[in-house]
Amino acid sequence: MTNPKRAPRKAEVFESQCVACGCCVKVCPLGAIAIDRGIKAVVDKAKCVGCGKCAKECPASVIEIQEVTA
Ligand code: SF4
Ligand code: SF4
Repeated sequence: MTNPKRAPRKAEVFESQCVACGCCVKVCPLGAIAIDRGIKAVVDKAKCVGCGKCAKECPASVIEIQEVTA
């Protein structure tokens, strides 16, 4: 059963620590994450469903899945 009040979850990248390896891009089933100018990963929040696959794959552990309350 789904709870309609549950806040949506989105991936958040700590960009300053991203090494732009691209692992997250490869595993995202929705194409919601991309490497910006070859230096850092950016998440398209409109596409991201917060599945957490990117966070699991990130070798630098710089992706966190956060609840979006706004
Ligand atoms: S949490 Fe899931 S949908 Fe969102 S960017 Fe990561 S892999 Fe893609
Ligand atoms: S997997 Fe992690 S370090 Fe690699 S590009 Fe994605 S966010 Fe950056």
